[in-house]
Amino acid sequence: PASSGEAAFEPTRAARRHLVQPWPVAGEIGDEARGLIGEGDGVHVSDGEGNWLIDGPAGMWCVNVGHRRRELAEVLHDQAMALSYNSPWYTMNEPSARLAERIAAHAPGDLDHVFFTTGGSTAVESALRFMQFYNNVRGRPEKKVILSRGGAYHGSTFLSASLNGRPRDRDWMDGVDDLVVKLSCPDPFRRPAGMSVESFSDKLVAEFAETVERIAAERIGAFVGEPIMASGGVIVPPPDYLKRIAAICRDNDILFVSDEVVTAFGRLGEVFASQSVFGIEPDIITFAKGVTSGYFPLGGMVVSARLFDEIRRSNRSEAMYAHGLTYSSHPVGCAVALKNLDLLEGGILEHAREIAPYFQDRLKSLEELPLVGEVRGAGLMACVECVADRESRNPLTLDKEVGKRIDAHCHELGLLVRPLIHMCVMSPPLIITREQIDRMVAILHEGISRTM
Ligand code: PLP
Repeated sequence: PASSGEAAFEPTRAARRHLVQPWPVAGEIGDEARGLIGEGDGVHVSDGEGNWLIDGPAGMWCVNVGHRRRELAEVLHDQAMALSYNSPWYTMNEPSARLAERIAAHAPGDLDHVFFTTGGSTAVESALRFMQFYNNVRGRPEKKVILSRGGAYHGSTFLSASLNGRPRDRDWMDGVDDLVVKLSCPDPFRRPAGMSVESFSDKLVAEFAETVERIAAERIGAFVGEPIMASGGVIVPPPDYLKRIAAICRDNDILFVSDEVVTAFGRLGEVFASQSVFGIEPDIITFAKGVTSGYFPLGGMVVSARLFDEIRRSNRSEAMYAHGLTYSSHPVGCAVALKNLDLLEGGILEHAREIAPYFQDRLKSLEELPLVGEVRGAGLMACVECVADRESRNPLTLDKEVGKRIDAHCHELGLLVRPLIHMCVMSPPLIITREQIDRMVAILHEGISRTM
């Protein structure tokens, strides 16, 4: 409490004056404060007024094991007291070696080398720079083009952001556009009218093959894709689409980078989803978020041993892989991730798999509302997409703030949602119960009804 005479601290006022938050619009930049969150507990967070709300997006798809886990808080404390930091350039620590071994055991095929970063953007950035190095030492310096897709989100560093596919995120920012080629978004809901999902899949695969042909495989270094596009609106691609793209990549010596920043660590009921859910064996998997359930900023990439073998066998043994971060292999982050993995393996993954059909089924019931065009998802991630006209699936004449208005109503009723223009994305902590799902859906129903 403030001592007498001293003004009470006002977080909103201080934030307006000094704090810059992600994704502000120009008219508000440097002058905005978002809704204050006070505390978290399980699947709930409290707002600035002390009201408890269900944390519908689990922060930013990340608080997978839920808030206020004593086990994780204790590890944060104990590891910081044991060793809070060591230079990954000159030394190593035990938690990072243990975590690399455990992640490698979960990753598909020969993906068994792990590089740790500070989050998802740096994980994707690392994968892309690794691809560049790999092709340079193999004597293929022209093989650097990166394929990405409309609707994708891969980060906020220069190269990773260049892959982002939503026009709104790209319109006012520059990117390395000469290195990146964008393909169509594999969104079955937005497929051409009258086309079956199978034909839509064929069309996407043909576009991919034609692009490889047009640019020439010798110039293409990697394809980067989220197995399910998260921020693009939980876009679940047509069945077999990813397998067919992976086959084209394999045949053309194009690295398949599976961006599992959202889908890994339980969101789809598995530690990694690429192989177990989608049947693909990528060359590199990037991860972040759920690896520590948001208790510490950590991410990374797990890379195929084959690529390291090739690099070692190249005749450029003097070439320096000049890539590393001060906080690579952070001991506290890795220790927390180990305990987080214990929790996931100790029942939470199983719970997520068991409850996912109920979650999807209950949310699907929202399609009875006239404003809702589609509810889609997989595992414990879902999107409610609003449309102005259900017949034409047209979102364009909708009020652009519809997601925000739904969010405001839901907030009043006890639920945080993640509004994305005309969509609301839900990805709660994996520990959510049936009763909490029922409550979430009831609030969404009421919030959307009030918005119509
Ligand atoms: N990749 C995907 C698929 C993401 O969803 C995100 C963030 O939402 C990122 C990368 C970037 O991760 P970060 O925000 O931790 O840098």
